[in-house]
Amino acid sequence: TFDHPIEASPSPRQTTRCVAVGPYKIGGDAPVLIQSMTDTETADIDATVKQAAALARAGSELVRLTINNEQAAAALPHIREQLASQGIEVPLVGDFHFNGHKLLKRHPACAEAIAKMRINPGNVGKGSRRDPQFAEMIEIACRYELPVRIGVNWGSLDESVLTRLMDANAQRQQPYPPEMVTRDAVVTSAIESAKQAEELGLPGDSIILSCKMSGVQDLVAVYRDLARRCDYPLHLGLTEAGMGVPGIASSSAALAILLQQGIGDTIRVSLTPDPGGARTREVEVAQQILQCMGLRDFTPRVTACPGCGRTSSNYFQHLAEQVRHHIDERIPEWRNQYPGVEKLRIAVMGCVVNGPGESRHADIGISLPGADEQPAAPVFVDGERRTTLKGDNIAAEFKNIIEEYIQQ
Ligand code: SF4
Repeated sequence: TFDHPIEASPSPRQTTRCVAVGPYKIGGDAPVLIQSMTDTETADIDATVKQAAALARAGSELVRLTINNEQAAAALPHIREQLASQGIEVPLVGDFHFNGHKLLKRHPACAEAIAKMRINPGNVGKGSRRDPQFAEMIEIACRYELPVRIGVNWGSLDESVLTRLMDANAQRQQPYPPEMVTRDAVVTSAIESAKQAEELGLPGDSIILSCKMSGVQDLVAVYRDLARRCDYPLHLGLTEAGMGVPGIASSSAALAILLQQGIGDTIRVSLTPDPGGARTREVEVAQQILQCMGLRDFTPRVTACPGCGRTSSNYFQHLAEQVRHHIDERIPEWRNQYPGVEKLRIAVMGCVVNGPGESRHADIGISLPGADEQPAAPVFVDGERRTTLKGDNIAAEFKNIIEEYIQQ
């Protein structure tokens, strides 16, 4: 008898307030948004427009820029205009530092050009109500109706909060290890700053929180605690994740654990690009994390087996690559013409062991012949065997089947 139904889905999303940022919503039941950040000198308008446009085209739904000096603040309206002239209306997020309040006062057009500001209470004053920098930033956010991400980073933690908690810990008969106090200080700094911002007049549904850490377990622990202690929407991101495969693996592990637990309303994958590498890689990785977890769909997915001793040649890897390439080329047009095409699942498999089964689970699948099989490749469409491909033209014929399927 069957009596063990096994569900496969993330935990229900944590209930958070919903914050409007430009045309998007963050939190509530809105989809988990993807963000990224430029690494150009913001004052270099051409370079910044070019990179922000690339990030937006790659799928970054918000693009953050550092606004660290007069030139950067003066550049923002021009960056906004030039992006708009290219048809790119991506909301820009201003990342401010200790001098943000002065810059925004001298450059009101900068405040008008951004859709959100990010402030770090360890860097913009002490996050204290009495602190003029923090209070001035919040006053400006209220005046321009800008939502604010209060973004704590453990590398620049508010010393006053840490000292207070360390002192309290020292009074305990059995003090906790310092790293535990630091984690608490990170969360406490974020929540206290948010409460202070509300006391200063910022609406509660204009606040997003983040607590970035550079270790996976630290990040998971801190966000779990944050989610328990408040209902502000949460921006997830492992800071200083690093380069290449370790960076991707660390970010994927950390974000996946939290998203699976229903924690997180917007994400950024912070990768250090390889020299000469594309900044857009982090957007691609963020999309893949959300898509492989079944949280959002961005592009048709190609399932391919890893290959093994049963594989007759590396032709099937080439075929999988060709299908992936075909999708990348065609997806902009498909998206316009065939809404929902992102949900398509295609399987390219190396032999009969898992080929037919995996192909049947996909919308379209092909099982190439293994080393000891007849040179024929059965194709499955919607779980049924549709045809068998042979000869030298399998790739082109399979791509035609994909095109026909999408058109129908
Ligand atoms: Fe090997 Fe076949 Fe499995 Fe691919 S499907 S990994 S070729 S046994």
